[in-house]
Amino acid sequence: MTGPGGLLAPVLLFVFGLFVGSFLNVVIARLPARRSIVTPRSACLHCGAPIPWHDNVPLLSFALLGGRCRHCRARISWRYPVVEAATGCLFALALWRHGLSLDLASALFLLAALVAVTGIDLDHQIIPDVITLPGIAVGLAWSLATGHPRWLDAIVGAAVGGGLFFLIIVASGGGMGGGDMKLGAMLGAFLGWRLLLVGVMVSVLAGGVVAIALLALGRRGRKDAVPFGPFLALGGAVALLWGEGILHWYLTAFAR
Ligand SMILES: [Zn+2]
Repeated sequence: MTGPGGLLAPVLLFVFGLFVGSFLNVVIARLPARRSIVTPRSACLHCGAPIPWHDNVPLLSFALLGGRCRHCRARISWRYPVVEAATGCLFALALWRHGLSLDLASALFLLAALVAVTGIDLDHQIIPDVITLPGIAVGLAWSLATGHPRWLDAIVGAAVGGGLFFLIIVASGGGMGGGDMKLGAMLGAFLGWRLLLVGVMVSVLAGGVVAIALLALGRRGRKDAVPFGPFLALGGAVALLWGEGILHWYLTAFAR
């Protein structure tokens, strides 16, 4: 794409992602507490003052308010703008990878789910079934309806994703939770089994690097559990965006 017109779609997707990210912040904060994600309106966690829409514009409001509540000046967590910006960037990347296509719609759905799972698992060490179970169903239904990935790939992917983590749970005696298993199945349903394996490999590599770094820095002991969901979500996003290229590179480099 060339010229300013070529920038319009990515910018629109980025802005759309900012607003979806703003909604995902609400999901991350309220879903584990079983509070409605629709009502009541957002309020300051410190003083309870309701946040009007013009103080709730993604990124802009945080910057204009200096990261503080307008009423009580309490600090607003940096996580809010980070989630918004991350979702915006992921949505623009998905457009770049998939173009304006049916695949883009499923990519945006999966990326939004992965952002929510990451935030919730970091905060609460759980991966909610209300995200992953409907996610598995949507992924399988999507492949049946569109052929992306082919339905057999999606079903095998869901089975492999769930089965792999089931085996890890059994073998490790509870080192991972059932939430990781259902997240694995959801990724398999959306990505198909080949890209699922790419995602799992990326997540294991990333998780290993971070675990070693935390041990080396003395931030975590050997016994402390590090939630794996965020790594699996990262691996899934990488596989969604760059999985075909990674797979091609891997097959040509190692599997002659
Ligand atoms: Zn306040």
